[in-house]
Amino acid sequence: MSILTESQSGRISGIGRDKRADTGEAGLPEDGKSYVRGATEPPLVYATVPQMLRDTVSRYGPREALVFCETGARLTYYDLDRRVDALAGGFLALGVEKGDRVGIWAPNRLEWVLTQFATARIGAVLVNINPAYRVNELEYALKVVGCKVLVTAPAFKSSDYLGMIAELVPELASSRPGHLRAARLPALRAVVSMEDTPSPGCIAFAALETMGGPAQQLRLPTIDATLSPDDAINIQFTSGTTGSPKGATLSHYSITNNARFVTDRIGLTEADRLAVPVPLYHCFGMVMGVLGAVSKGAALVFPAQGVDAEAVLDAVAAERCTALYGVPTMFVAMLAALDARPRDLASLRTGIMAGALCPVEVMRRVQRQMHMTEVTICYGMTETSPVSFQSFTDDPLEKRCETVGRVHPHLEVKIVDGEGQIVPVGMAGELCTRGYSVMKGYWQDRDRTDESVRDGWMHTGDLATLDADGFCTITGRLKDMIIRGGENIYPREIEEILNAHQQVSDAQVFGIPDPKYGEEVCAFVLAAAGPAPDPEALRGHCRAKMAYFKVPKHIRVVESFPATITGKPQKFVMRDMMTKALGVVADPPA
Ligand code: AMP
Repeated sequence: MSILTESQSGRISGIGRDKRADTGEAGLPEDGKSYVRGATEPPLVYATVPQMLRDTVSRYGPREALVFCETGARLTYYDLDRRVDALAGGFLALGVEKGDRVGIWAPNRLEWVLTQFATARIGAVLVNINPAYRVNELEYALKVVGCKVLVTAPAFKSSDYLGMIAELVPELASSRPGHLRAARLPALRAVVSMEDTPSPGCIAFAALETMGGPAQQLRLPTIDATLSPDDAINIQFTSGTTGSPKGATLSHYSITNNARFVTDRIGLTEADRLAVPVPLYHCFGMVMGVLGAVSKGAALVFPAQGVDAEAVLDAVAAERCTALYGVPTMFVAMLAALDARPRDLASLRTGIMAGALCPVEVMRRVQRQMHMTEVTICYGMTETSPVSFQSFTDDPLEKRCETVGRVHPHLEVKIVDGEGQIVPVGMAGELCTRGYSVMKGYWQDRDRTDESVRDGWMHTGDLATLDADGFCTITGRLKDMIIRGGENIYPREIEEILNAHQQVSDAQVFGIPDPKYGEEVCAFVLAAAGPAPDPEALRGHCRAKMAYFKVPKHIRVVESFPATITGKPQKFVMRDMMTKALGVVADPPA
């Protein structure tokens, strides 16, 4: 359905599911070259996020949409629709306009999903902020995109969000709610806190839900008519292939279509119940999870605010979930928890493992022991909304365990060598993706966008091979990135923070294999003149300035870095040295 059809009720029909199937038949390499083009069925749908929600509400209104196991909150699609409109009215009353940026800093809570849809309802751009960020990371994110409103949880685990905001914005406590003027964040006007009694200067989330009146509700259809599927609607921070975090900017069109295709491949329908333990701030949670389920009218089950294997298994058993998402390390933890205390997971059928290399043995055990006989693997990145490859539920077991599947509909992928030439089938090169899913760009950063997206091709920085049947295997990375427990870590960020320590003259950060997290962060540092730095003190310095998962587990003070004859530090040599010194094994335990 390339053209939307308006039914008499004024609703857009057919956004979620299209009977015409993506069979994977398209997507064969042509002329022995590593180039594939995805199926053209089902068609792309030119719709906004609010249109997608409205379509599902009209079809499946009374069905359950959201379950939050920790709080016991349960919403039907009708409830969700009402709560979203009320909150959208609140944002309007607060002065949020189409195109304004609204940051969200919270773990997986109901307010996150409500904010996701309410901002989209009025065309405001949702800015996802990693709940593990520390003050300087928060400041950078809010400043780069000029957030007008920040919606925040009060605290979670070791993160005192309101405390960190107070440090960054000392003016908040004495300001009139909604009228903030902050020296370090000039664009910020309001902080909305998920508390019953708001902290000084903040607006309570519940109060925001009732702040809009009839006037704001009347404005909603008018605003809706001005929204275009091509508008920017979401910014997610990623370092792409190099450097400091940049705001990958995605449109309604890219995320709604990717969400549809992802859940098409696992055969999700309104009868399914999808457990989402992956974080909402990432595409895996908010696009593949929330929008993917909404596109089909399925129920979303959130086991816990954070990642907790026991809670996931309990939720799947209690809520009779049929589908489950996770990064490989989460599945490793779930399998261990299941061994320790068996649960009845017989309701499970399908799901997705993605985000990092998925070990074959873990895939096999997930099928065998967790009843996920139709589990698939996805490969993608934030900049491509995110998925470009995915297995089909009926692909041969070997292909489903050993590859990331075949190309998604409406996408082209090529694998190129260092000169940009397409390599023959079977040969490794850089994976590049082109099509509807490629981001609009990095927020107000033309140069970095042009470095990554050339002639429409997103250069992923990932190394891959394609086989003659179009199945893709990710073989490594060109980019300097570590993936620890599904979280991406960019060494340069950590190196800069270590270099800022007065006892350090230079630092090199790299990853080593880790049985639990896939990879662990290590650093070699050269001492500045004076007393040698204490590695534990350096870790403390890092803990204060970066999200916990980035803090190097091992820091070694060295005399010199292994380097090429031209003096370029060789991280792969450092990795080998550390791996040998620590005697680590490469593969996660199955
Ligand atoms: P993100 O932007 O956080 O989604 O991270 C994207 C990166 O995660 C990719 O560029 C890959 O390096 C890695 N990645 C994602 N999925 C897979 C997968 N199935 N296998 C291997 N690496 C993956």
